[in-house]
Amino acid sequence: MSKWNRFFYQAHKAAVLWLFIVLYLFLFRFIFIAVFHDSIQTSTVVRDIARIAKDTLINLYPDPSAKELKKAIASLWRMKPEQMMLGNGSDELIQTVILAFGGPVLVPAPTFAMYDITSRALAQKVVSVPLDADFDLDAELIIKRATASRAKVLFLACPNNPTGNRFSDRAIRRILAETDAAVVIDEAYYSFSGRSYLPLLKQYPNLIILRTLSKIGLAGLRIGVLIASPGIVGELNKIRLPYNINSLSQIAAVSVLKHRSVLNRQISLLISERKKLYNAFSKLPGVTAYPSETNFILIRTDADASVIHRKLKRAGILIKNLNKPGPLENCLRVTIGTPEENKEFIGTLRTILGH
Ligand code: PMP
Repeated sequence: MSKWNRFFYQAHKAAVLWLFIVLYLFLFRFIFIAVFHDSIQTSTVVRDIARIAKDTLINLYPDPSAKELKKAIASLWRMKPEQMMLGNGSDELIQTVILAFGGPVLVPAPTFAMYDITSRALAQKVVSVPLDADFDLDAELIIKRATASRAKVLFLACPNNPTGNRFSDRAIRRILAETDAAVVIDEAYYSFSGRSYLPLLKQYPNLIILRTLSKIGLAGLRIGVLIASPGIVGELNKIRLPYNINSLSQIAAVSVLKHRSVLNRQISLLISERKKLYNAFSKLPGVTAYPSETNFILIRTDADASVIHRKLKRAGILIKNLNKPGPLENCLRVTIGTPEENKEFIGTLRTILGH
């Protein structure tokens, strides 16, 4: 290679490297407020995982019953391991329930999309019943539609995604008592509401509860939890894929769950940030915020929400656009971020709205 060729080759290499660095820095400044990335990554937690992962025999199949992990979760949430089944995220457990019970599947609207998507993918009919104007369940209508359609399963996300509210206790108890279908209460956001239907398991044999480790900062491990009567768990276990929780997820989750204070601190910080963000929204003209018991807040804007969403994106802030004709018209879902992210978000929104 001549001297000049070598020079151009080196210069070209340097330019490509710089391009990568600039691109990386540009992407890095994007605040992914749509997805809550938690700070479980504290050094002690990560060091513990790395130490145990090093000794995990990945040439062997994982423990199919994930005994240690079940014990750790049972102790975290005060459950009985024999009433539990774990899934590759609660997404898998939703699929298992639909596979086992079949349809029609009754869902309120709006709610978490996977109930509908998975039912249709499994060729099951979906009966969609609208929530009332306060995003609460219309128990009368749900019982009527469940009976008329002979629904086999009902999915009630409580607190609900994307509206953020809990349904009224009276409506849930009435539905549990007056329908023959399996009633799944999806408590994915339990940690941010602190209220659970777990104590009702004894009273209602048709009750199935779902929880997940995703919302407490472990979404990447894919661990969902189903709690029901030993009879239901026994039947569902027959169709569960035997090695649905991989070895590394099992050991990582057991390890992280030992750091209870880190988890609790994160949850408390999120709840206090949620309150601050809600108050900030309440002071913004042209924005209505809905009370939330989750890790996100639903807002409705007077102006076109899709335009606001686009402008936020251009400013490097990504939130979920739910705007379409119907109950979520001009609605956006904002996931609670770090104090700095939340402050930046409110500042940018204020500028976009011209306040
Ligand atoms: N249920 C609800 C209500 C959810 O909002 C979500 C995820 N956003 C899930 C279940 C799925 O959780 P996982 O990560 O455990 O599959």
